Amino acid sequence: MLDNYYLNRGKSIKIKRVIAGCMAIGTIFIMSSSSNLKNLRINNRIVIKPVEHNLVSNNNNNNSSSTSSAVASSEVVVSSQAPIVDNSSMVSSQIEVKKYDLGNDELIEKYGQFTLWGMPYEGYLKAMDNKFEEILFEQSNDDDLNYDLTKLYRYADIEKYLYELGKNSNVRLYQLGTSSEQRKIYGIEVGTGSKVIMLTGNLHGNEGAGTGYILKSISDLLNKSNNDSYLKLLLENVKIVAIPCVNPDGREINITQNINYWKANGLGIDLNANFPSSEASVLSNKEKMDIGIKITPGPNAFPGYKLGDANETKVLMKWFEQYIVKEQAFCHIDYHQQGRVIYCTNFYGTDERNNNAKDFVSSLVSFFNNNNNNMPNFANIGTNTLMDGSGGGATYYANNLADGFVMSKKYGRLGMLKDDNVELALIFGKLTKDNTYYKPANFDFVNCTLEIGTKATVGYDMESLKNQSEEYYNYNYGNIPILLMEKCLGQEKINELKEQAKAKVLIMK
Ligand SMILES: [Zn+2]
Repeated sequence: MLDNYYLNRGKSIKIKRVIAGCMAIGTIFIMSSSSNLKNLRINNRIVIKPVEHNLVSNNNNNNSSSTSSAVASSEVVVSSQAPIVDNSSMVSSQIEVKKYDLGNDELIEKYGQFTLWGMPYEGYLKAMDNKFEEILFEQSNDDDLNYDLTKLYRYADIEKYLYELGKNSNVRLYQLGTSSEQRKIYGIEVGTGSKVIMLTGNLHGNEGAGTGYILKSISDLLNKSNNDSYLKLLLENVKIVAIPCVNPDGREINITQNINYWKANGLGIDLNANFPSSEASVLSNKEKMDIGIKITPGPNAFPGYKLGDANETKVLMKWFEQYIVKEQAFCHIDYHQQGRVIYCTNFYGTDERNNNAKDFVSSLVSFFNNNNNNMPNFANIGTNTLMDGSGGGATYYANNLADGFVMSKKYGRLGMLKDDNVELALIFGKLTKDNTYYKPANFDFVNCTLEIGTKATVGYDMESLKNQSEEYYNYNYGNIPILLMEKCLGQEKINELKEQAKAKVLIMK
């Protein structure tokens, strides 16, 4: 019964559709390209829904009022909108340490207990039912597009930029869903290959560099590929999928309030603690709760009223399902911004996956350091002890999915399924590939949290943006997409493509 609830999405269409009577700024329509029927493509089901591309203004912030109930102990005023939660089992705004029936007191004694309500199953089904809507343009345009890292982009500017990028014949632009304050969250697919690389940025509101780095590096790659046969071939063999800005509300709060510490979303929920991963809000016995974890909404570290209750979390859960499980992505990098550190590995990961992740991160570390002998070294830190009440990060959830974990109706978290009737929300003991119940959904997938920059880069003021730009060039971030594409194809395939590219150049001469 507990199946993986993936939904099939039709393959993106490559031809930019033309519609008559468009507005000058590039009217688009949205095509629903989702279906909950397996193996059924429904590209021809078109929902005509014109949308102005500058529809999202920043007026949302004018709605902010001091009546916000979602903010405690903070001067920052966020949305007055009440969090949407299922009241049936809500623990007011407090996280209560509560013992759940794990069916075995001995195991609770040994491994700990949950400190936060899990995700209601209906919420999970709602997340999995989310449809990605492809945004189509009347005309394609492959002209160079230049992202300026030293310039402040409000979220509306990011949207405009994405609409320009979406016109490139090698890019598909999707509206993935909406934030808690109803801003649109976008995803892009760049290239047409079957190998998939995943990038996310700005999951923390104050860490906007990821958005700029992703957009800049992808734009430059596309610009260069116009005159480079090898890059063109890479893009035919690999697809880069990205959500440049996961948390638009948090981004706008920092910009409009002129602050640089608001990590959370617009409701004061820290998205990187809100994912219903196996290790989310699990308090190991005899350990103290992570002192960084907050019990009320605010700028950071509040995991939510329940796991998975933030819109943004739900959007990302479906996105992970699509690319990690259905399209067997090779890797995922989540761009953060807390000081030249790369985190990888997870508590329940098998040795194989954790070792692969360490190798992957080592190669990134040497990539960054080789180009910057005079700069402070990147550190490579494995995180494998998160049984302290935290642990609901995006990358943990992604790893659990790759390990074939499914949502437990009983515990509201991902776990291993023993059989249709027995759910193991917590893996009791070390997960090994020999475990009877271990059925990985994507055996080779690796991911990491890439913390770029130093403190001096955090924020949206001109000085921080200048520092972000310098950091980008000093550490060669522009070549990350190419590095990842080459890594996932392997040396043999790269050689083959280089030969093909040479041959093409000769023919052209
Ligand atoms: Zn962060």
